[in-house]
Amino acid sequence: MANVESMVRKAHFYIAPWYAEGVTKAPVMTREEKKAWYEKFEADFGSLQRNREKLSVETLQTKYAKSYNRLITDLKAGVDTLLDYHIQTFVVNGLPTHPLDRDGLERFVKRTNGIIREETAPGRLLEQAKAALIDGLDMEKCWELVYRIYERIEQEAFYPYWMRHCFRRNGRVYNDIIDKWWRPVQSDGSERWTNEDGTLYDVTHNGRHFHAFNFPPKEAAPWENAAIAEMPRCKGCGAPILWHKTAAGKLMPCDPDPVAYWERPGATGKVLTAWTQYSERGRLASCDFAGTPGTESGIGYVPHWATCPNWRDFKKN
Ligand SMILES: [Zn+2]
Repeated sequence: MANVESMVRKAHFYIAPWYAEGVTKAPVMTREEKKAWYEKFEADFGSLQRNREKLSVETLQTKYAKSYNRLITDLKAGVDTLLDYHIQTFVVNGLPTHPLDRDGLERFVKRTNGIIREETAPGRLLEQAKAALIDGLDMEKCWELVYRIYERIEQEAFYPYWMRHCFRRNGRVYNDIIDKWWRPVQSDGSERWTNEDGTLYDVTHNGRHFHAFNFPPKEAAPWENAAIAEMPRCKGCGAPILWHKTAAGKLMPCDPDPVAYWERPGATGKVLTAWTQYSERGRLASCDFAGTPGTESGIGYVPHWATCPNWRDFKKN
């Protein structure tokens, strides 16, 4: 069994690869840049509020046109950055993805960019957020409208992707991104992702927390025409398997549970690398499956042909 804490620590668990692939245009803001943006945004909004208390919009637009227009331009740019901030924080860094599902990620990213295009068009949510701020002087409403763009992305782009990674397995629902099992509503009303034995867990990544109640395995949106799939089984021995795509684009049947591995040339163990250096994902490596905790090369999947008792027969047929 994989050590989840180490998996998450080592993992490119979230969508950081988006940037590596150049698939989103939202710029990466450093902590300092975020702070600087937020302080200026708040200060500009304060100026706007004070100006509008003292003077009519007409006076501001005529007598003080130059400085007022600059303030409006800066505030609108601030709302654009607010959207970038949401995309970076909630989408790119907040939605967990599977390192070997490149096809799914591509569709997810394409849909995300489609929603961003739609909601940044005239009259849509981003413009409404700017109007709420500048005409309505309502900062809270502005944030809420921008957050609704994120919500659309979560529901319409991420959820179909997430549901591709939920499988029925031994009568329960398993997710292979977080390697967790869904525990339906308990007597206390809670429902959440747990370890296989039902125990609770705590996953943090770069100081962020994956909440176990996030992203319940609800059926995909109707237009997806998809229900939770049964986990595939090996035709040779009947064991559950997952098909993963190698870096070369070949599908490989693997044992479904991720394992920690220590790479060593010449070792007899074989693993398909997954949560590891981005450039090395989907590579078949020779490895040991035991070593000093915390020094593992990564987390990967054992090809099913290495463990299947009937693989030889199956291959012959
Ligand atoms: Zn088998």
